[in-house]
Amino acid sequence: MDKKMRVLAVGAHPDDIEIRCGGTLARYAEMGHHVMMGYATNGNKGHRTIPPDELAQIREKESRAAAAVIGAEVFWLNFPDAELFYDKETRLAFVDMIRQARPDLIITHWREAYHPDHMATSELVCGASYISTVPHVKTDHPPCAAVPMIYYFEVDFTVESAAAEYVDVSAVYEKKRQMLACHASQFEWLRENHGVDLAERMIPRDRSYGAQCGVAYAERFVPRGFRPKERLLP
Ligand SMILES: [Zn+2]
Repeated sequence: MDKKMRVLAVGAHPDDIEIRCGGTLARYAEMGHHVMMGYATNGNKGHRTIPPDELAQIREKESRAAAAVIGAEVFWLNFPDAELFYDKETRLAFVDMIRQARPDLIITHWREAYHPDHMATSELVCGASYISTVPHVKTDHPPCAAVPMIYYFEVDFTVESAAAEYVDVSAVYEKKRQMLACHASQFEWLRENHGVDLAERMIPRDRSYGAQCGVAYAERFVPRGFRPKERLLP
């Protein structure tokens, strides 16, 4: 992987990509690749008391701070939380994000995720990555030259996990934790509403992925379609 790549991670909510691929993005950034983070929704329902409009602003700030930890470029699509659907308007917004980003590689949710916004993001990314190359589909940016490779995260319990590839994130784990810590509003919400500590959920999973490949902490991905000849992951 001598060539400098453009890597785009797309998550349904602020904090999804930090949790699932923050370490991999940190490694790409350290290797000099151009890293971009796309947030599909503004996360404006993720709190008990802060009103949605105010919360959307807080979560945008938190997301931009998380991206700044690794110097990543941000695409903020601003769809309302829990209202992301596979429709024409939304797919065109994804197409235009991909055209602007011109990624060699996209990392996103697996389609059978637990949250409907995650499932929609997965389908939208896959659909839009193809449509982004079609010249007669007009958006603000010119069409992409090629369909980018896609890697999924969140493939925990399906047959596809046999094709999993691991990324050792041990050396950048502190950066990953810093990125997650930027999402301060979510620590409170998840503790109160779901009895979950965000970091306490992330760390054991990354440790168990690490144990599966013989390192301290790892992230795990499954390629869409055939695995590329040359490894694209760090
Ligand atoms: Zn999410």
